[in-house]
Amino acid sequence: MARYIFITGGVVSSLGKGLASAALGALLQARGFSVRLRKLDPYLNVDPGTMSPFEHGEVFVTDDGAETDLDLGHYERFTGVAARKTDSISSGRVYSTVLEKERRGDYLGKTIQVIPHVTNEIKDFLAIGADEVDFMLCEIGGTVGDIEGLPFFEAIRQFSQDRPRGQCIFMHLTLLPFIRASGELKTKPTQHSVKELRSIGIAPDILVCRSEGPIPAKEREKLALFCNVRPDSVIAAQDLRSIYEAPLAYHREGLDQAVLDAFRITPAPRPNLARWEDVADRIYNPEGEVKIAIVGKYTQLEDAYKSIAEALTHGGMANRVRVNIEWVDAELFEREDAAPHLEGFNAILVPGGFGERGTEGKIKAAEFARTRKVPYLGICLGMQMAVIEAARNVARLPDAGSEEFDHEAGKKRFTPVVYHLKEWVQGNHKVERRLDDDKGGTMRLGAYDATLAEGSKVAQVYGRTSIDERHRHRYEVDIEYRAQLESAGLRFSGMSPDGRLPEIVEWSNHPWFIGVQFHPELKSKPFDPHPLFADFVRAAKDMSRLV
Ligand code: GLN
Repeated sequence: MARYIFITGGVVSSLGKGLASAALGALLQARGFSVRLRKLDPYLNVDPGTMSPFEHGEVFVTDDGAETDLDLGHYERFTGVAARKTDSISSGRVYSTVLEKERRGDYLGKTIQVIPHVTNEIKDFLAIGADEVDFMLCEIGGTVGDIEGLPFFEAIRQFSQDRPRGQCIFMHLTLLPFIRASGELKTKPTQHSVKELRSIGIAPDILVCRSEGPIPAKEREKLALFCNVRPDSVIAAQDLRSIYEAPLAYHREGLDQAVLDAFRITPAPRPNLARWEDVADRIYNPEGEVKIAIVGKYTQLEDAYKSIAEALTHGGMANRVRVNIEWVDAELFEREDAAPHLEGFNAILVPGGFGERGTEGKIKAAEFARTRKVPYLGICLGMQMAVIEAARNVARLPDAGSEEFDHEAGKKRFTPVVYHLKEWVQGNHKVERRLDDDKGGTMRLGAYDATLAEGSKVAQVYGRTSIDERHRHRYEVDIEYRAQLESAGLRFSGMSPDGRLPEIVEWSNHPWFIGVQFHPELKSKPFDPHPLFADFVRAAKDMSRLV
């Protein structure tokens, strides 16, 4: 039966709770334990799938097709454990399940209340798969005291009481602000936050305090005394140059030891941190650098493309180079020539996206990369735009476009080289969709197999011809145009196993131009960089030697 670690936050948001959870997961693995990480989000959206990237950053997709919070991406990147649908839940999901049950009559006429019906639903969620791992790490989104968060806090309190003594611990993340004028580290916000937590029945076992520098003994003792934790369970989380140092940094601070002590696991197995030492060495000691442009729409908010930025960093680590990313707004090229803006880069990446805004600019970026022989990686919409560019400028289909934009504009303007997908095969059943389906959860989502053409660039990059990758899209390149595009030189080098859905395209006469319908970035890890990103950065590195 798994031991549970509940991770909560206080004082302010964005303290790095997700990262702390992920790093702790990695440290427990380093000591030989198996882990799973979960996220409980208090917002009322059923899932983040319909939220704008400006609101909530990237939507992370799991193999089993759930659209989840980007923290699940951190969890996977640090532990290598593939997240599942059952690792992410929101208040919206909890309430919609409770209400569905109520409509079905499952509660036999009872009055439905937050306690016990909502809290029971949350507890059932927490218990899923408890016998599969040694440790279950559950992070509660938001900060203690938020109105929406209360049912979750109540549920974890109850859950720890329901379990045998000593099976659950609470770890609370707070901020220790440094007041420059007086030169002091302030503990009061943390004291208040812990007080808030205790008022709802939760006493933290471990305090992780985000601070600019180390925590002096005096403040540590004060925190321990006023917050009722042991001094060695007050852990400093200092700012790091790279998030990938977090496991080593938390280990130095004694986090994993404090956790094992709290569970009374003695003697604690010794950690093997070789993986993280290698990761830190690669990230802190690069032997060169490359400059890559990400041409997209949500460029003001880096979190919108979190996994892509991380996957590029991993690609850099594979090649021992530092990857400098510049975010370029695609709309710029709709007003100005793309060349002067893109000339200084060693490679161009066009990421996924939704809606027409900015797409003509992405098409220009693909054209620049194709004609100037600059390495290009197109992901999802970035692949679709590369295909449209090929159709318009090489395959003599000047009106080529995507049905997505015609639907949006309410008129027919384009030859639909990219069309709305209405049916496909998942495993051994057929999935059907209509244009007027709900927006939430209706895309082609999750892991699908693809078959790569022998002798293609991608087969060489992957080192095999059968892959599976995660998808999240509604539109698809139409194989109707395959022959025409292939005779123009754009090879359809990866297809769904039934041969109907194009998964990968590549220009045969280009050093590195690949478009993929899926999201390879979601599976990249610092200790296991995704082959497409590793090879893309290698191509960028070759390019940087030329310029
Ligand atoms: N908007 C496109 C589609 O739905 C691309 C989606 C994406 O890039 N994730 O097919």
